[in-house]
Amino acid sequence: MTKISEGKKLEKELAFSFKNIAKEEPEKLKDAIKFCEGYKEFLNKGKTERECASYTEKLLKDAGYKPFEPDMSLSAGDKVYYVNRGKGIIASTIGKKALTEGVRFNIAHIDSPRLDLKPNPMYEKEEIAYLKTHYYGGIRKYQWATIPLSMHGVVYLKNGEKVELSIGEKESDTRFVITDLLPHLSAKQNERPLKDGIKGEELNIVIGSVPYADDDVKNAYKLMALKLMNEEYGITESDFMRAEIEMVPSVKATDIGFDRSMIGAYGQDDRVCAYTAVMAEIKTKSPEHTTVTVLTDKEEIGSEGNTGMASEFLHHYMEDLCDIFGVKVRNVYRRSTCLSSDVNAAYDPTFSDVFEPANASFINHGPVITKYTGARGKSGSNDASAETMAAVIKIMDDNKVYWQIGELGKVDEGGGGTIALFMGNKDVDTVDVGVPVLAMHAPFEITSKLDVFYTYKAFRAFYK
Ligand code: MN
Ligand code: MN
Repeated sequence: MTKISEGKKLEKELAFSFKNIAKEEPEKLKDAIKFCEGYKEFLNKGKTERECASYTEKLLKDAGYKPFEPDMSLSAGDKVYYVNRGKGIIASTIGKKALTEGVRFNIAHIDSPRLDLKPNPMYEKEEIAYLKTHYYGGIRKYQWATIPLSMHGVVYLKNGEKVELSIGEKESDTRFVITDLLPHLSAKQNERPLKDGIKGEELNIVIGSVPYADDDVKNAYKLMALKLMNEEYGITESDFMRAEIEMVPSVKATDIGFDRSMIGAYGQDDRVCAYTAVMAEIKTKSPEHTTVTVLTDKEEIGSEGNTGMASEFLHHYMEDLCDIFGVKVRNVYRRSTCLSSDVNAAYDPTFSDVFEPANASFINHGPVITKYTGARGKSGSNDASAETMAAVIKIMDDNKVYWQIGELGKVDEGGGGTIALFMGNKDVDTVDVGVPVLAMHAPFEITSKLDVFYTYKAFRAFYK
């Protein structure tokens, strides 16, 4: 037997480091790969918050969830859901304990960075027809040129009819694109700072190049595009003002690497936490505490508006739920725990200088518990208490779930926020938990399948 030195023994006792799951338990990758097939389907079916909410509603209905009604009666094990304006969804499984023992909130967001069409988007310029966009959320604009884009959204016609668009997802569909300069002529553009590589007003979508054949028409290229849209969808130009149309990458979720250990896809921030949260919600049969799984909208632009977490939509649901059981909502909030389930930036070896490795999250190390987010001295952060950290870490450890700690980059390198502060402000113990992502907010983001799988396991443990 080899002798272990005293120092080595002491180190094992006192020091700590997070484990790489792929190294510790490589055989778990098989389960993770299997689990992620459903996740890829979820990503492909939900390219927008509306599509994601409606696909989730289908999953919940298939699992026996009933629509929530304020005057219904509920008992332990019952499963209900509530849709908020088609853009968000709440699902609950009633627990064995009274609501006043606290509920378990798990909140993820289903909006993702993208390009929205302006309310009056159509124009033509020198024989090409275009749509103007206004970007939504934090994007690096140069990443959105010269990639195939699809068009998703809803339009209300003058007669009140609702038209749903999804163009560019089927193999045979047409697609759309933003142009960029060729290297031969980009000497001046190359002098721009990277953030201005493509500017906001240059994010113009090419939609046609054939004119309407009539010399009397002034904007024949625009008219031709309008004519084709009208024939297919019944839309006229003024209908864009009654619409929400989102341009998103038309790429499908795909495996990455020879080992197929990763997933590349659009919109993994934060549909990766949405999917794992919903799967955990569905699998939970008789929890101790009532579960409240929330998929929300508008996180990427600050959670404002009546589909975002700054609004009262969840509070109203909670009031209705409390009325059913004859308890006060404030007595529920103050004893509840919330996982603000959102992604964190995974350590990127190619761009390592923005990370502080001891406090960065790494792919294949499992879900990241993020104590605080914010910027410039934690400003705008929920900053979870030691008590909340202890409670959540205990759940992970008791259930043998891999987890890690993560900060969003080096101090003063940048920063960001999540929905955590809104739940903290409601008097709920809250902490951020989620999947580490490479190339976050890019049109094609990367996650590890083991992390996705263990985030699901973490959420299952939380709902036990
Ligand atoms: Mn997010
Ligand atoms: Mn984000």
